[in-house]
Amino acid sequence: MMNLLITGGAGFIGSNLIRQVIDQPEITKLVNLDCLTYAGHLENLEGIHGIHPRYVFEQVDLRDKAEVLRVIRQHDITHVMHLAAESHVDRSIAAPADFITTNINGTFHLLEACRAHWFDPETSIQNRASKFLHVSTDEVYGSLGPQDPAFTEATPCAPNSPYSASKAASDMLVRSYHHTYGLPAIITRCSNNYGPCQFPEKLIPVIIQSVLNRQSIPVYGDGLNVRDWLHVGDHCQALWNVLTSGKAGETYNIGGQNELTNLHLVQQICDVIDELAPALGGNSRSLITFVPDRPGHDRRYAMNAEKIQSELGWKPAHTFETGVRETVQWYLNNVNGMRDVRLHVSL
Ligand code: NAD
Repeated sequence: MMNLLITGGAGFIGSNLIRQVIDQPEITKLVNLDCLTYAGHLENLEGIHGIHPRYVFEQVDLRDKAEVLRVIRQHDITHVMHLAAESHVDRSIAAPADFITTNINGTFHLLEACRAHWFDPETSIQNRASKFLHVSTDEVYGSLGPQDPAFTEATPCAPNSPYSASKAASDMLVRSYHHTYGLPAIITRCSNNYGPCQFPEKLIPVIIQSVLNRQSIPVYGDGLNVRDWLHVGDHCQALWNVLTSGKAGETYNIGGQNELTNLHLVQQICDVIDELAPALGGNSRSLITFVPDRPGHDRRYAMNAEKIQSELGWKPAHTFETGVRETVQWYLNNVNGMRDVRLHVSL
């Protein structure tokens, strides 16, 4: 029996995750805890929210410690997949406070609530089968040089932005709750995701939106920053494998072995749009415009995901070519649902 709590289930990855796992036979109840910030949209859960018999929504802010504990107790939560976070690097540079309160304090509240509910207060012995999966990012490892080997789970954390620092801090808290209290916690760190339902301020929706409006496509600096791209469906499958088969106390890297410069990524998407929507006029690459670089912009991320592949048998099902084509098509089909948020490119 699994009473599963997914935090941040109205966001990009969380909504894809709910869609992907809700019918797993192990799940008795799936509770989506989300306070619906600018990045949370229940439309992402159309067909599930308010309809699916196993699904419950709790509009709760992780910063409200008492409410977090209430949710864990009321639904007798046995498993947690913790995704809720402030996730946009540019926003963390402009206004870091929410990153500290949500990503660090919010994770602390969730850990405390699980400890209170899963451990006997008299004996401190764990009183039920449970698992806490903390979803983190490759950004906690910092930046690589062009020839450096990819990050492994043993790479020390060296975060460079307020966002990645807040994620690294929450990772350390999770680690300490396993070490100190024996909380059955696991950390995953994933590379950049792409796929449906991503908030329009992130790179791929920004590119598509710009092309549709025939506006310039902003690319930071020289466009040669490198990211490792993974389809969100592959990330969600990896998270499910880790939740059900991962070992408490471990960290698992998740990545697509798909390193691309930002410029190359933008060019590829322009070409796919030109092919799928020729009525837009073609030659979308001409819209690419270089804009001043982000302060402290990490140059390169790359993930070594051998551990999850060899220990848990996970590997990505999507190739980048098919995944990007399918994603562009999804945005073209859902163009009316794209909110007109044209900030900066986030990676
Ligand atoms: P997102 O910004 O799309 O969604 C975040 C969700 O969390 C939103 O629904 C928002 O309403 C909710 N939320 C924010 N603050 C909250 C709070 N105080 N209380 C309750 N809910 C709150 O983020 P995403 O891209 O789906 O990322 C999800 C997780 O995966 C994050 O922890 C992020 O660090 C991690 N991650 C993301 C990527 C990526 O490429 N997007 C890669 C690796 C790891």
